[in-house]
Amino acid sequence: MASFKKMHADSIADREAFWSREARRIDWHKTPERVLDYDRPPFARWFAGGTTNLCHNAVDRWLTWNGGALADKPALIYISTETDTERTYTFRELHAEVNRVAAMLADLGVGRGDRVLIYMPMIAEAAFAMLACARLGAIHSVVFGGFASHSLAQRIEDATPKVVVSADAGSRAGKVVPYKGLLDEALNLSGHKPARVLMFNRGLAPMPLAAGRDVDWQSLANRHFGAVLPCVWLESGEPSYILYTSGTTGRPKGVQRDTGGYAVALAASMQHIYCGQPGEVYFSTSDIGWVVGHSYIVYGPLLAGMATVFYEGTPVRPDAGILWQIVERHKVAVMFSAPTAIRVLKKQDPAYLAKHDLSSLKALWLAGEPLDEPTARWISDALGRPVVDNYWQTETGWPILTYPMGVEALPRKFGSPGYPMYGYDVRLLHETTGEEVAVGEKGVVAVVPPLPPGCMSTVWGDDERFVKTYFDSIPGKQVYSTFDWGIRDADGCHFILGRTDDVINVAGHRLGTREIEESISSHAAIAEVAVVGVADQLKGQVPVGFAVVRDPGVIASTPARLALEGEVMKTVDSQLGAIARPARVHFVTMLPKTRSGKVLRRSLQAICEGRDPGDLTTIEDPGALAQVKEAVAAK
Ligand code: AMP
Repeated sequence: MASFKKMHADSIADREAFWSREARRIDWHKTPERVLDYDRPPFARWFAGGTTNLCHNAVDRWLTWNGGALADKPALIYISTETDTERTYTFRELHAEVNRVAAMLADLGVGRGDRVLIYMPMIAEAAFAMLACARLGAIHSVVFGGFASHSLAQRIEDATPKVVVSADAGSRAGKVVPYKGLLDEALNLSGHKPARVLMFNRGLAPMPLAAGRDVDWQSLANRHFGAVLPCVWLESGEPSYILYTSGTTGRPKGVQRDTGGYAVALAASMQHIYCGQPGEVYFSTSDIGWVVGHSYIVYGPLLAGMATVFYEGTPVRPDAGILWQIVERHKVAVMFSAPTAIRVLKKQDPAYLAKHDLSSLKALWLAGEPLDEPTARWISDALGRPVVDNYWQTETGWPILTYPMGVEALPRKFGSPGYPMYGYDVRLLHETTGEEVAVGEKGVVAVVPPLPPGCMSTVWGDDERFVKTYFDSIPGKQVYSTFDWGIRDADGCHFILGRTDDVINVAGHRLGTREIEESISSHAAIAEVAVVGVADQLKGQVPVGFAVVRDPGVIASTPARLALEGEVMKTVDSQLGAIARPARVHFVTMLPKTRSGKVLRRSLQAICEGRDPGDLTTIEDPGALAQVKEAVAAK
């Protein structure tokens, strides 16, 4: 392990020397003056004074690289099994498309520092829009297409975009999901009104245009054919994007990413972690609405001169071999997915896997949620390729823990995402004393600042919230908390044991239980509610609600109870999106609380999972728990 061990130690002992070497992986318009400006802890400004552009490094640069060797090679391979579409864009074609969209956005008034909210399905135009924003120095904020009007409105209000880019509809498992109605409702709800809404018509759902505000993509595109706009050189610390993520409050946080640090961190990770080389193919099954989609569908692969597969579809349509068929057909070298997708495939006929030639694949990387040992073993045996767990968060933008396959083939342990990556000074700390815990003891996974390049620079518009949320939770120390529990074994391998807060992880997606509670409470019949994450074989966790109704009369009969449960689920669907819909909503006349009024969430969760509810000495009324047990047992 000598070589990676040394690399990691060097990266912490002399951060500036380490990252100044890594910074050479990207093109700078102006060389940074300081590798790290850490004059105002915990805010780290990487490559201060340097100027660069993400779109230049992801697209333009490859037109001339190595005598133009990549210019006419694939850059973006768009595959939709929802609409049976496939189209490959070379770097030259991608350059043209991105320039055209940049010209369209500029026409709508978008310039440096302006926000553009992108609410789009997995269509190539979404990637063009992201890269076009980067080209113009505008800040994109992509909102996952599965989110509904309330979630969208919150993000519009916080990011205050000048322009929203959207489409008529998404499609999931063959079912059209119309976007325009949800978007219009969100725009009604939001106090902030964008000047323009750019709408791409896929011809899947009605898309009525609001006069004076909405603009049809194609009509505008026709006016900008052949446009070429220069890249706007941004100072390294200028924001590239905002990506919202859920926390313990009902209000999502806008994770703000810089430009230069992010480009360097991703370029370095493509080499050291994902083993990607120019000209090879990268396939990540995520969605641009999530951080993986930002780092490892759009920016990371392109920054490495790789072609990225941009996939709209599920792992099981038209059949459970589709992902492997893509790997075979496009000779995918690097594949990135989530444990849930693999658990879905595990239930299908293994013949689908055996049927395809997967010899191009270097390894399969999995992230976003705990990778359980049986799933890891199954896919590892079935693939005959390394399966590499990697642990990170929206906030960090790239892995905190993994096995650095591009540096050294370290022994991998099932169930463990491995070792702290270069640049991360990871410690496991006792939750109340703040002291480091011993080997084999559980502690909060924390990172001693400064955080390495690529990690969030602040919470959009709220520096104080950034410090308070992330650096104030461990007593006596200003360290970054991941809000995950972890444990380290004698070999230095880490294991993640779950969240320390009320955030849950459904199929690799982070959801705040508070947001779901607020949505359920907005239903007129509900007086009070608690939502907890309950273990699920397929999705890792699912939300389950316990609600107190205002008038017990409304749930007097079983059909009435089921009808209200359905209505509550619909409320969540329409406000937050189906992704946040509770698997069950149980009705009770009171919630189990401590004498000081705190809901005993851990006990609720334990009962749902058939475990012992734990220490109940502080409970206000034990009758509340009896009701919960009864409700859960009744199914
Ligand atoms: P998100 O920001 O939505 O990507 O969610 C990040 C959270 O997902 C982390 O804080 C962890 O709780 C969980 N997570 C991500 N990757 C892993 C992993 N490889 N193993 C265990 N948990 C993970």
